Amino acid sequence: MSLTVQLWGTRGSIPTPGPDTIRYGGNTACVSVSDGDTTLILDAGTGIRRCGRHLERGGPSAQRVTVLLSHTHWDHLQGLPFFPPLYRAGSHVTILGPRQPGPSLESVIHGQMAPAVFPVPAAALASRVTVTEIDAGDHEVAGFSIRAIGLCHPGATLGYAIGPAGGAARLAYLTDNELGASIGSGRWPAFVRFLQGTDTLVHDAMYFDAELAGRVGWGHSSASEAVQVALEAGVRRLVLFHHDPSHDDETLDRLLEEAERSRVRHGGALDITIAAEDTTLHC
Ligand SMILES: [Zn+2]
Ligand SMILES: [Zn+2]
Repeated sequence: MSLTVQLWGTRGSIPTPGPDTIRYGGNTACVSVSDGDTTLILDAGTGIRRCGRHLERGGPSAQRVTVLLSHTHWDHLQGLPFFPPLYRAGSHVTILGPRQPGPSLESVIHGQMAPAVFPVPAAALASRVTVTEIDAGDHEVAGFSIRAIGLCHPGATLGYAIGPAGGAARLAYLTDNELGASIGSGRWPAFVRFLQGTDTLVHDAMYFDAELAGRVGWGHSSASEAVQVALEAGVRRLVLFHHDPSHDDETLDRLLEEAERSRVRHGGALDITIAAEDTTLHC
């Protein structure tokens, strides 16, 4: 059975609404994965607001919702206070994310709703909310098989390979991952192994190669680096994700062209697309 993947937010760092970002979108990271029965939401950037409204139109399935966070940077968490199922009595929202070295995941999430920054305290939510910290390794989450791997990014950050329960991974979601740093730390081969057998890879591709030199240590990759890891792992399709807020639609067209040139240079088959909000994929 194939998985249905919907892109609700494709932008990194900060929302970028406006006429120059209409085609690829301005909402920050949020992707949903559905097997037809259950929906798993990856990240809670500002795209999660519309994702939640869409789920609610589906009826009772919105009463049990699972959100799997890559990490807790704002662009992956900022939409959570506006996630409609949180305000519905009888709903149960489960939030999972990487184990935090400092404050707990639950306290970071509650901080998003502290009185100084948000009018509704977490304690006043109508839904039941469960927060669970997870580590790298294998997990069963909301009826999906999940494998988690630590990413090269400031702070605790996980990437996920997702498949139907008991089945092989079909989708990999690795955003906020500095592949250049993984070469220096010897972790590149681990990423290639992790991705092998995956149909579709959604990967951080924030920069052009020419921008990389000034961004070392920022925790992101170039489109060409994402192409290289996808080719080495033999995935079928690469989705360039986590767009830089300074890149408008025309700039992202050029980023896709640079990625395609990189594929030709390395040789090999790979379907490359650039993440556009409101796109649905099947894998
Ligand atoms: Zn990010
Ligand atoms: Zn981040």
